[in-house]
Amino acid sequence: MIEGLIQKYHQWLEVPDNAELISLNEGNTPLIELPRLAKLISSNIKLYGKFEGLNPTGSFKDRGMTMAVTMAKSDGSHTVMCASTGNTSASAAAYAARAGMKCIVLIPGGKIALGKLTQALMHGAKVISIDGNFDEALNLVRSICKSSPIALVNSVNPYRLQGQKTVAFEIVDDLGNSPDYHVMPVGNAGNVTAAWMGYKEYYSSHKCSKLPKMVGFQASGAAPIVLGHVVEHPDTVATAIRIGNPASWKGAICARDESGGYIGSVTDSEILEMYQLLPSTEGVFVEPACAAPLAGIKKLAQSGYFDKQVTVVVTLTGHGLKDPDTAMGMHSAITSSVPATREAVMDAIGLET
Ligand SMILES: *Cc1c(COP(=O)(O)O)cnc(C)c1O
Repeated sequence: MIEGLIQKYHQWLEVPDNAELISLNEGNTPLIELPRLAKLISSNIKLYGKFEGLNPTGSFKDRGMTMAVTMAKSDGSHTVMCASTGNTSASAAAYAARAGMKCIVLIPGGKIALGKLTQALMHGAKVISIDGNFDEALNLVRSICKSSPIALVNSVNPYRLQGQKTVAFEIVDDLGNSPDYHVMPVGNAGNVTAAWMGYKEYYSSHKCSKLPKMVGFQASGAAPIVLGHVVEHPDTVATAIRIGNPASWKGAICARDESGGYIGSVTDSEILEMYQLLPSTEGVFVEPACAAPLAGIKKLAQSGYFDKQVTVVVTLTGHGLKDPDTAMGMHSAITSSVPATREAVMDAIGLET
């Protein structure tokens, strides 16, 4: 019987005894070995993808949202609100619907992946697009939630990080120990902060005998942590990490420095190369943000970073179907068809008739 995360990891996730658990049986995502891709990157790495795109709304955000919405409902809120580059809104809208609550979503103008917007709308959220970027949207949400009985469910909500730490538990439960490296995309930096917290908690309880090095990648057009300053106009094809002022900036620095890890950046063209390579070599389709850590691993491997055999887990944060426009933009559309004859089809395949 599959159970949701709050049940599965109840000793690690505190909720009031009488709370109604708002769950869509999130978590329990597969850790998939990626041997073909690993071979193309480096002979020194055993690479696994934690495919978070297989969560109920198609991203890791569901891990945090089951906690945030359970606690919002338990605290008596009737409405949740978030600013979102897409996946947070899809998840918040779904869990709010599940809870019988209202959901309000502020999205930055311009780039929102079509699949994510579709989800928020279909789950009945009120979606408001602002003439501004994500960071401005989050500031507005913070201000509004402070002065009204609306629960803020962005990752500045501590319950979100509590739920998201469970990804580390599942990886350790699967591998029998922590990997040598855990690599992921970094946007608001909640995920890297939460995963590090999870590993440390498991380590303290002797569930693993070592801690991983935490490695994060930002897109070079949205790399405030790498640059050391806020980016006013973040820009990247990886919309899920198009963030110029990460809410969990300090948490990311802590995770990096305490673990002896690294946070770097990769360009959009490096991202798009891996975005295409992963689904075509391994059959795993992810959204562009997830390709950033893969591009980063390649870059690190080329610089000799992995100097011995190591186990690397990469979080594949969201499903590729979220962003069909970016995917189709890389392929010439099927514009013309061929006659419905054996000859024509053989010819189109390139086989002699
Ligand atoms: C939210 C999100 C990220 C960024 O995670 P942070 O916790 O904000 O760093 C990366 N990829 C996907 C698909 C996301 O939805």
